[in-house]
Amino acid sequence: MSTELRAVRGMNDILPDEAVRWEALEDTLRTWLRSYGYRNIRTPLVESTALFCRAIGEATDIVEKEMYSFEDSLNGEHLTLRPEATASTVRAALEHSLLYGGPQRVYYMGPMFRHERPQKGRYRQFHQVGAEALGFPGPDVDAEMLLMCHRLWKLLELEDIRLELNSLGTLDERREHRAALIVYLEANAADLDEDGRRRMYSNPLRVLDSKNPAMKPVIDGAPLLTAYLRDASLQHFESIQQILRAAGIPYRINPRLVRGLDYYNLTVFEWVTDRLGAQGTVCGGGRYDGLFEQLGGKPQPACGWALGIERLLALLELNQKPLAMPPATIYLVNQGAEAQRAAFRVAEMLRNHGLSVLQHSGGGSFKTQMKRADASGASVAVILGEDEVAAGEASVKPLRIVQDQFRVREQSLAEAVRKFVVGN
Ligand code: ATP
Ligand code: MG
Repeated sequence: MSTELRAVRGMNDILPDEAVRWEALEDTLRTWLRSYGYRNIRTPLVESTALFCRAIGEATDIVEKEMYSFEDSLNGEHLTLRPEATASTVRAALEHSLLYGGPQRVYYMGPMFRHERPQKGRYRQFHQVGAEALGFPGPDVDAEMLLMCHRLWKLLELEDIRLELNSLGTLDERREHRAALIVYLEANAADLDEDGRRRMYSNPLRVLDSKNPAMKPVIDGAPLLTAYLRDASLQHFESIQQILRAAGIPYRINPRLVRGLDYYNLTVFEWVTDRLGAQGTVCGGGRYDGLFEQLGGKPQPACGWALGIERLLALLELNQKPLAMPPATIYLVNQGAEAQRAAFRVAEMLRNHGLSVLQHSGGGSFKTQMKRADASGASVAVILGEDEVAAGEASVKPLRIVQDQFRVREQSLAEAVRKFVVGN
């Protein structure tokens, strides 16, 4: 196949066998999110470039080098494929006065785009599920978000995801820390990499977020933001920890945790695992009380997190636990012109009874059709031949247990097959 007709590097097809796992996980995620009162929000995949520059911050990896930005050739607008969805969610909340009636808990699920070096667990189109608690000052809602993530790991039987927690304090506190940090970075400029030297003044905190192992010694010696936190920030941080301790959720305070986006304050957290190599962060989030105002709105406190679906699926695959039972289906075998016509009616009738039916199409011998029925994973085959149709009956052949084929009247068919269908 010519190379120009392949999928774009770092952007993956999810074929049906794999998509079964995606759908099962998405179902679990939706049920879990609803059980905490989160409602779905859907924003466009494309937004003005300015939105992300303002929300995420100019001196960040995402804005500096990971955005898919382009100019609309028809009207010259500067557009970007969304690299994350918090900015879009806040934009939509402001545009539609979503918080007019009070705070809102919302979630989103879908593709994000970042121009990164593709590797296992890191793609250019990847998928996130995320939740945003808009209009809540916390710290109770911050803690609720951590409790809910913890419940998800338990639901999915993932035991080795650890919580790392930090507080970024307020703007004022960060300003004081920033001054001290710049002095320190200047003194150690020789040990900084190119990104580090470039961001030393534009965004010194971001230097601490570097993934370059060579930078570790400099980062380890840098002044800690936690030392600059005053009472209110410390209290907010301590309240979250109290709730975690009461709920029996272990955590580690990681004073170096700053996260890759500019908009965070106070609480920041990551859920990490050692089982995914360098791509060990499964979920990250925190509080972003300044973002509404930064995007031109009235200030609103808010907190959120985003979770990488590919990384979660990779972890689940390591556990080798099936995510869900195979789809419960009836395979409808039909032979002869008369039976083929009847098959449509019978299939619709079974679906009216809430059953899922895979209707054989394309003709073929009885033997071929039964082979397909078996390979489809269906629990039971319903067979319509000339004889059956003439008698107003159908044959039923259970496929997953040893039992002889038998015939039933069409009126009793739904009831007769239901016994063999998984989950019914
Ligand atoms: P990383 O440090 O791994 O680059 P990040 O801090 O850039 O992650 P966030 O912006 O916080 O990531 O996104 C939240 C989650 O989305 C991450 O924890 C991860 O699970 C997932 N994620 C981020 N970027 C990618 C990507 N390129 N491919 C796959 N998953 C990703
Ligand atoms: Mg990243």
